[in-house]
This record gives sequence, C-alpha cells and structure tokens, in this order.
Amino acid sequence: MEDCLFCKIHKGEIPSTRVYEDENVIAFRDLYPQAKEHILFIHKRHTKNVNELVATDPSELSDVFLAIKKYTEDSKLTETGFRVVTNFGPDGGQTVFHTHFHLLGGQKLKGFGA
Ligand code: 5GP
Ligand code: ZN
Repeated sequence: MEDCLFCKIHKGEIPSTRVYEDENVIAFRDLYPQAKEHILFIHKRHTKNVNELVATDPSELSDVFLAIKKYTEDSKLTETGFRVVTNFGPDGGQTVFHTHFHLLGGQKLKGFGA
C-alpha cells in the first residue's frame, strides 16, 4: 500500500536490517529497540491491524508464527525465551498501521507478571 512505512520497507524503498524472509513474511530490526533483541515480523500483504488480518485471511497468522518459530530456533532465542506482542489502536500504542508483531528477547523482560 502506498504511503505505508512497512510496505516501503518490504519493497526495499526504505532501508532496514532484515533478519528473516520467506515467501510470505519478512522480519527486520526495530529502529528504536525496547530490548536487546527487538525484531518486527510482518506479512507481505498489507493489513492495518491484527483484527483486519484475521478477518480477511487468518492463515496469515500461521505464516507469521511459523516465521517466528524458525527465527527463534535458528537464533537460539528458544533457549532463553522471548515475548511476542501486537499493539492495536491508541491505548495499545499502535503507531504504524501495517500489522506487525514485536519479538522481544535477549534479556529478562519486565511486566506481565515477570
Ligand atoms: P507500534 O508502536 O505500531 O506497535 O510499533 C511500531 C514500531 O516501529 C516501533 O517499535 C518503532 O520503533 C518502529 N519503527 C518506526 N519507524 C521505523 C523505521 O523506519 N524502521 C524500523 N526498522 N522500525 C521503525
Ligand atoms: Zn503496509
């Protein structure tokens, strides 16, 4: 989609540090990391948030989580652990309106009872 930051990153029009790619999904480092490892996973098809994604093609959730499985196994994050988060709307703190999943790890994470 035109004027979407993450579509531009997907098309290579805006540079990013890409750490994973397959037929459906790309993952790249967050520009302002909130943890030692902070990676953003996106489906190549543009949707604005996770509810639109599941309403239009829920199989894309499997595409994204299979990519997360592969990346966390290959990078050995599975040995220490990690967290996956998606933000929705103003209270959720969503600032980029192309569905994305934050993968956080590389350190002990605070919050959610930790
Ligand atoms: P949200 O707040 O929408 O859940 O997450 C958007 C994320 O995109 C934020 O964590 C922010 O740091 C990241 N971000 C914003 N602009 C860029 C950019 O140009 N490149 C990359 N790699 N990340 C970005
Ligand atoms: Zn987009």
